Amino acid sequence: MINLILFGPPGSGKGTQAKKLVEQYELLHISTGDLFRYEMGNNTPLGLKAKEYISKGELVPDEITVGMLANKVIANQNVKGYIFDGYPRNIFQSEELDRILAEMGMEVTGLVALAVEDEEIVQRILGRGKTSGRTDDNDESIIRNRIEVYKQETRPVFDYYAKSNKSFEIGGLGSIDDVFDRLCKQINTF
Ligand code: ADP
Repeated sequence: MINLILFGPPGSGKGTQAKKLVEQYELLHISTGDLFRYEMGNNTPLGLKAKEYISKGELVPDEITVGMLANKVIANQNVKGYIFDGYPRNIFQSEELDRILAEMGMEVTGLVALAVEDEEIVQRILGRGKTSGRTDDNDESIIRNRIEVYKQETRPVFDYYAKSNKSFEIGGLGSIDDVFDRLCKQINTF
C-alpha cells in the first residue's frame, strides 16, 4: 500500500502528475480542489461556502475540508492506496490525516514536493485560466495570494513530514514525462 501526498505550490503540476500516477500504481486520486469544484458546480451548500474562500485565493476552513476528506477516504477503503493532491494544506490538516489513516491501520508513506519557482507558477496558472474556466486562475493578485498562503501555511507541512524522514522534493520543470520519471523513481524507493 502506498499513501502518497503529492505536494507543491498551486500550478506545480500535481493534478497532471496524479492522473499519470493513478494509471501506473492503481491508486485512488483524492483532490480536495476537484471535490470543491464538484460541489461548487452543483451549487451545494458546501460548494457555496467553499466558493467564498476559493474566489479570494484563501484556504477553505478546516472544519469543512477535513470532514469532506475523511468521508472520501472512509468511503473508499478497498484500494491499493491513495494519492492526496491539495491536501493537507496546513499542519492541522496533516495531524488530522495522520489520525484518519491511523484509525484505519494505515499511515502516510511519503510526501513528494514538486519544486517550481513563483514566476513560472504565475505564468502557468494564467495560461491555464484561459481554458480552465476557474475564476481563481484569471486574476494575478488572487494567484499571488494563493502563493503567499502556500508559503505561510502549506509549506510547513513539508517540514512536518520531514521529521519522520518522509518528505522528498523533486524538480517540477521540464516535460510532463520528465517530471513523471523523477516522481516514479522517488516513489519506487518507498
Ligand atoms: P491549486 O493547487 O492549483 O491552487 P486546487 O485545485 O488544489 O488548486 O485548490 C483550489 C482551491 O481550493 C484552493 O486555492 C483552496 O481555496 C481550496 N482548497 C483545496 N484544497 C484545500 C485544503 N486542503 N484546505 C483548504 N482549502 C483547500
